[in-house]
Amino acid sequence: TWGQVREELIKRVGKNNYTTWIEPLRLSQLKNGVASFEVPTTFFGDWVSRNFADHIRGQLAVAGTPVDRVEFTVGTMAEQPAVRPSTKPAAKPARARTTGTDEVTGAQLEQRFTFDNFVVGKPNELAHAAARRVAEGGPVTFNPLFLYGGVGLGKTHLMHAIAHELKFSRPDLHVLYLSAEQFMYRFVQALRDRQIMDFKELFRSVDVLMVDDVQFIAGKDSTQEEFFHTFNALVDQNKQIVISADRAPGEIKDLEERIRSRLQCGLVVDLHPTDYELRLGILQSKLEHYSNQYRGLTMAPGVLEFLAHRITTNVRVLEGALMRLFAFASLVGREINLDLVQECLSDILRSSEKRLTIEEIQRKVAEHYNVRLSDMIGPKRLRTIARPRQVAMYLSKQMTSRSLPEIGRRFGGRDHTTIMHGVRKIEELMAADGQLADDVQLLKRLLQS
Ligand code: ADP
Ligand code: MG
Repeated sequence: TWGQVREELIKRVGKNNYTTWIEPLRLSQLKNGVASFEVPTTFFGDWVSRNFADHIRGQLAVAGTPVDRVEFTVGTMAEQPAVRPSTKPAAKPARARTTGTDEVTGAQLEQRFTFDNFVVGKPNELAHAAARRVAEGGPVTFNPLFLYGGVGLGKTHLMHAIAHELKFSRPDLHVLYLSAEQFMYRFVQALRDRQIMDFKELFRSVDVLMVDDVQFIAGKDSTQEEFFHTFNALVDQNKQIVISADRAPGEIKDLEERIRSRLQCGLVVDLHPTDYELRLGILQSKLEHYSNQYRGLTMAPGVLEFLAHRITTNVRVLEGALMRLFAFASLVGREINLDLVQECLSDILRSSEKRLTIEEIQRKVAEHYNVRLSDMIGPKRLRTIARPRQVAMYLSKQMTSRSLPEIGRRFGGRDHTTIMHGVRKIEELMAADGQLADDVQLLKRLLQS
């Protein structure tokens, strides 16, 4: 793909820019929505990031491999400097905000992931407010801040935004952002190199520690152990910790109980799936950006609304769609209208068209409650089976457009009144029982992703 992308980039940035800035790039990794390139110097990386990152992302999207971020690292990973900052962050040059991927310590921050670029709506307002509070760098009021939600809903964006903001509000603080995977990688490396004391010292000397996608360390025993100690040491010193995960602490399997309970001690906030307004808002804010980048392109009315209506899975896909539209329209020199949308986004639209089926709901619910799929439609009246069955009925009513008789047929030929009774029962129980309400919420989320 990269070969193909480079071809297109010649056309977009011109031969001179291409030879100077694009040709020397080495694609070192393409995974988890991040394309990493090796560059000869930091300056080089900054320059490419500022001037060509969007082109690169655009052409990657056209080539069918959309990414959220492009990162530039100097040399190879193994040669990266130690994560400890040699100078106080305060001494960093003021260019910090404009560089593409600058380091707090070690892990890279995406320049685009700022509070300014984060669109706030009902589904994420609480998470946003909590992140803002942490970013003020005032006295610690809740610890940790635990952000959770499905893929592509803005967890990483908010964490990077906190780091960016803290550099300005509290340049004296030592902020460390990294993924749980990186935490493990460093830990294992420290063990291997017999530098575990340095490792401990580094992690215990930060003022703000942010660990992204913490579900990753579930089941990894020694890493969990070390994480737990780090966590406790920092909390004891009243240092701020921010954690993200794809689900609530209570829902992460294979997580030690003591870690789970510590994670629940702070503020646990949920990033809900986006609603139409939020999606439209995000598209509008991106549109401004692309109109600057691709001057001369016009967009017919109704396109954004159509996208916000149809692409409901995650923000990453939504952004990728808009980016691809612009890149495509500029290649073929056409107006962006609904025809172009159909042509250029047919794959995305087709996959988002895939309607949730009652069978899928039954399967997920059965899996969740550890009952047989056949019991979902079978006659057993045992509470442990009947309750999950009712949950599946409730979700079928809520999440599909099937009528009660149709749902009844798919539950082993039950009468529509039985379905209605099941739905009501669950509604009643949810109002009274927080655990059940949480369960249903989680299942919904799993089914939506
Ligand atoms: P997560 O870490 O939850 O999987 P990310 O933070 O990586 O999701 O977000 C995925 C993409 O969607 C990023 O490009 C991010 O900028 C964008 N995004 C998510 N939520 C918002 C929002 N509320 N406003 C603007 N962009 C958003
Ligand atoms: Mg993330």
